[in-house]
Amino acid sequence: MNRRQFVYTMASSAAMFASAPRVFGAAVKYDLLIKGGRVIDPSMRLDAVCDVAISDGRIAAVETSIMAEAVEIIDARGKLVAPGLIDIHTHCARSGEGPGLVLQDGVTGWIDAGSQGADHIADTIAVAKTSPQQGRVLINIGRAGILADGDTMDLARADVAAAKDAIAKYRDLVVGVKARLSRDVAGTNDYEVVRRAQEVAASFNLPVMIHMGQTMSPVGKLVDLLKRGDIVTHMFAPPPNAMVDDSGHILPEVLAARRRGVWFDVGNGQTGHMRWDTIGTIMKAGFWPDTFSTDWNTNSKTTGVVDLPNCMSKLLGYGMTVSEAIACATVNASRMFPVFYDRGTLNVGAPADVALLELRVGTFEFLDNYKGTITGSQRFFPAGAVLAGKKG
Ligand SMILES: [Zn+2]
Repeated sequence: MNRRQFVYTMASSAAMFASAPRVFGAAVKYDLLIKGGRVIDPSMRLDAVCDVAISDGRIAAVETSIMAEAVEIIDARGKLVAPGLIDIHTHCARSGEGPGLVLQDGVTGWIDAGSQGADHIADTIAVAKTSPQQGRVLINIGRAGILADGDTMDLARADVAAAKDAIAKYRDLVVGVKARLSRDVAGTNDYEVVRRAQEVAASFNLPVMIHMGQTMSPVGKLVDLLKRGDIVTHMFAPPPNAMVDDSGHILPEVLAARRRGVWFDVGNGQTGHMRWDTIGTIMKAGFWPDTFSTDWNTNSKTTGVVDLPNCMSKLLGYGMTVSEAIACATVNASRMFPVFYDRGTLNVGAPADVALLELRVGTFEFLDNYKGTITGSQRFFPAGAVLAGKKG
């Protein structure tokens, strides 16, 4: 056997035993090598110290020790290496600086959840178009978008024809319909607002995201209008009209919604969306979220939101593991919108979107939306991002 055949044989066995160190891989040259981090990728059931190699904007290898040259090396020792984070409920598109700011938090994909309706959808579309990472928008069924006096308090604003026209115009960037429903947003119109949101969504085969909590109608009646693939955000909203009853049981309509494939999202936010006692009851009932999201705004750093890694840390004290928390912000989120179907994973061939995180151990205080605090012993901190193979 000459040397070339020998190297070929070694390469074949390395491919067969992907976890074996690639001793003879030195000839390979990658664009970027992330070395020595604890790689946690729930999409591959992986939690191990590994190297991640990237070429041409895609994941090229994830192995115990990659002894190859690379144009650039990131020393990730002591850090977590996860698929790029996906935040499915933000208001990133309210300002041009939003996408760049959340990229620093490790967010490589975002959804703007209804900042604008038909009248000004072009504003959010413009931000999505220029975003460095993938950004898409949900159109607010209220044609004037988010209003201080209530998006659809005047039912005429839930204008089906206007929303359909706007989606038809921006079909590639509008990926769903948002219905905000609290008593100071939709009042007694909440049920009809969801019905109209579904009418709009049905024409384009799109999901509806409802914002629950403090509604006039019982939440069970509202979720009955949701189909497979729709999303309930603010799932930890306290009463009135929480998704648990007074004795701590999840409402039957909510259980039925999950059975038929409706997703449940945290939507941290700032006011009225989460309270520790309600969170404790829902977690104890075993109804855990599919996704975390921030409900991010440019002021989030000064609130209990801080960033997506902080929001991901809040349920570690309720029994969620580090890997489960990362799943909620990666692989689970990737399944909700087609634009993210090939994301949320570090499997070979996937677009190379990577979040670097630090998992610090100590004493950390976390805030709900009612000035309530809990203390946790672990917290995720952002420590960098790689977007399409480039350091963010
Ligand atoms: Zn929101």
